[in-house]
Amino acid sequence: MRNLSAALVLIICVPLCGCAEKNIKEYSETVFAMDTVMDLKVYAQNDQVLSDAETEIRRIEKLLDRGNYRSDIYKINKYKSAEISDETAYVINCALEISERTGGAFDITISPVMDLWGFYNSEFNVPQSEQIKQALECVGYDKVDLDGNSISIPDGTAIDLGGAGKGYTSDRIAELLKSENVNSGIISLGGNVQAIGRKPDGSLWTVGIADPLDKSGYIGTLKVIDKAVITSGSYQRYFEYDGKIYHHIIDPETGVSAESGLLSVTVISESGIKADCLSTALFVLGLDKSIELWKNSSDFEAVFVDDDGVIYVTKGINSSFESDNDYIVIE
Ligand code: AMP
Ligand code: MG
Repeated sequence: MRNLSAALVLIICVPLCGCAEKNIKEYSETVFAMDTVMDLKVYAQNDQVLSDAETEIRRIEKLLDRGNYRSDIYKINKYKSAEISDETAYVINCALEISERTGGAFDITISPVMDLWGFYNSEFNVPQSEQIKQALECVGYDKVDLDGNSISIPDGTAIDLGGAGKGYTSDRIAELLKSENVNSGIISLGGNVQAIGRKPDGSLWTVGIADPLDKSGYIGTLKVIDKAVITSGSYQRYFEYDGKIYHHIIDPETGVSAESGLLSVTVISESGIKADCLSTALFVLGLDKSIELWKNSSDFEAVFVDDDGVIYVTKGINSSFESDNDYIVIE
């Protein structure tokens, strides 16, 4: 993540009519942070809440960015042992919990493998299998020793919170906005959406789920209140070599882009960080293992698109999902 404050675009919208509460107007802003375009829309009494949200986004970006020498993650990766903030410890703890729940499909120590494939500097290459094997020796969430605010990892191991950071950020922004009396809003961090309350007219927010085969289109929409809707997909970041696509979601067992038969997974949860970690993990696990996990859980729902473009929707959100396509409901 680079410091891209110069790229901030601020759009204050002209007041909207029709808001029930007095002096409540629509304000929106686009922020470029965490290598992504973030769209924030709130119904509030003034635009100060948006400036506060932007400040918060930049604060979290600094905390979790592995490339920023002042961040906790940079410190951990450089010194292998560090004292970290409560907040970073919380994020790492949540990530480790999802690692446990998914049998290591989600693993924040995937960093050496990401590096090997060139995902950090965009100098992509296909490594030799021996190189992958060596990098994998440093991967394993059980290598992370976190005790309160003290953390240590072995030499060669490094942490990457790329699969969790945006979800955590959306949780924090939702909390901040609510503490500033915003009862209605919607934020999209590079397509990862957090709905705050309902729309001002009392109806539910509509969130489109991107079509992995046509990024400009949608496979369907979801109606939500106070939920995070987070998608992981092989279409989001990839390179092509010798006619083969290599994407940014790595299977920690093989050290290669996950080929689990899925093109995208969208997770819907009250917790943004959970939805973020889970969407990445379910992508690695594939449909059958994900369904098994969903059946034993009560804290998320999901929409899957498989390699043939077939859509699967878990029962709990079936009634909020609308699509022109046929889809299969997972019971
Ligand atoms: P997401 O877009 O949320 O699915 O996260 C993908 C990002 O998470 C990648 O760009 C990496 O930074 C990181 N990542 C890749 N594979 C994994 C994995 N198996 N577990 C945890 N993080 C991963
Ligand atoms: Mg994720």
